[in-house]
Amino acid sequence: MIWNPNKECMPREQLRELQGKRLQKLVAYVYHNVPFYRHKMQEMDLMPEDIRSIDDIVKLPFTTKQDLRDNYPYGLMAAPKSEVVRVHASSGTTGNPTIVGYTRKDLAVWSEVMSRCLSAYGVTREDTFSVSYGYGLFTGGLGAHYGVENLGATVIPASTGNTEKHVRLIRDLHITGIACTPSYALYLAETVDKMGIDKNELSLRIGAFGAEPWTEHMRQEIQERLGLKAYNLYGLSEIMGPGVSCECEEQNGSHIQEDHFYPEIINPETLAPLPYGQQGELVFTTLTKEGMPLLRYRTKDLTSLMPGICPCGRTSVRMTPIMGRSDDMLIIRGINVFPSQVESVILSMKEFEPRYMLVVDRVNNLDTLQVQVEVRRDYFSDDIASMLNLKKLLSDKLKSVLSISADVKLMEPNSIQRSQGKSQRVIDKRTFLTDNE
Ligand code: ADP
Ligand code: ZN
Repeated sequence: MIWNPNKECMPREQLRELQGKRLQKLVAYVYHNVPFYRHKMQEMDLMPEDIRSIDDIVKLPFTTKQDLRDNYPYGLMAAPKSEVVRVHASSGTTGNPTIVGYTRKDLAVWSEVMSRCLSAYGVTREDTFSVSYGYGLFTGGLGAHYGVENLGATVIPASTGNTEKHVRLIRDLHITGIACTPSYALYLAETVDKMGIDKNELSLRIGAFGAEPWTEHMRQEIQERLGLKAYNLYGLSEIMGPGVSCECEEQNGSHIQEDHFYPEIINPETLAPLPYGQQGELVFTTLTKEGMPLLRYRTKDLTSLMPGICPCGRTSVRMTPIMGRSDDMLIIRGINVFPSQVESVILSMKEFEPRYMLVVDRVNNLDTLQVQVEVRRDYFSDDIASMLNLKKLLSDKLKSVLSISADVKLMEPNSIQRSQGKSQRVIDKRTFLTDNE
């Protein structure tokens, strides 16, 4: 179902016009209310009147995570303190957390976009939906929670932790949908197995997964193991939280809620805007936010915008799955490596669990990459020859995809640490080296 056809299926020209109007209003608002933006615009000799349509967005300054840190905690807030009704923080995956503030209207927009996402997955008022993102400062829990309520389905605020109890609730309350990280979904599946429960005893049919990159193979794995359809849910606290974009029934790219969040793709080195279809860094401008609106925020997430209109009827542009963040990218012996590339290889082989860890180090001035991966119980054996064969098979595949050789370390089932929120899949010992130097 389409939650808000007026907005989600708006003809493109009309949408561009609306975006232009909203942008003009936004620029005047931040110019007058956020000294940081006023100074930046003054340096560029730019007045709010210079922004006349959405095409003028390229004239505006970028905002970076560092700008948010420099203005910690409330420096970029545009609304007066009395209007701010909630505060969240980013998870701090890549450093100190940053703070965001929401007005009542911001929260209403957030619920609206989350409800659009849930509707796109096929959630209805009849569904019972478990929110298993962490509740708290992280936007995942409360963001998804109010979206479910706003849609009118029943929300089970399970959060993370206590996974066996959660599995029993899923069974006993006939929970039909779940929102969590893809790695937690896998952990749930493992727990279901461990408890001797058959997935057919559960009524799960829809999963809304995000907060970390995941591959198509991971989708297949989760769908198979939990007996549901797995959809992508994307968002980030600086822009709003979950609900910035989501897949529809086509499961082919995530629709961006473009009337609220204007996307651009730029070349992260030159900062030049890139056309649809080309991969680069995703940049968002919050067109309607009041609390902490941002101009051209550089997400560091690498993706591309898809040309063409989706068969579902929504006219909003879609983004391809996030390949990783620019700062997830490892440079090993001069070659760029993304953890998601390793994931694709591992998950394409039936012998391995979708559990892996990359350990990067520097030995005698040479970068080394070790890939630790769990072997499935059925394939794990004491027979050294067969284990060596398996190791070679994976090394060869990794080499052909990554163009560098990796040292494969086969691990017993259940030996790599499980995560309930965003998983950590890289240990880069080289950063510790330089820190100590
Ligand atoms: P932090 O940047 O500290 O992790 P957030 O908790 O706001 O802060 O997380 C937002 C980030 O999580 C995004 O910028 C992106 O890197 C990642 N993310 C969120 N949803 C997805 C998704 N569906 N696919 C891939 N990555 C995602
Ligand atoms: Zn669609």
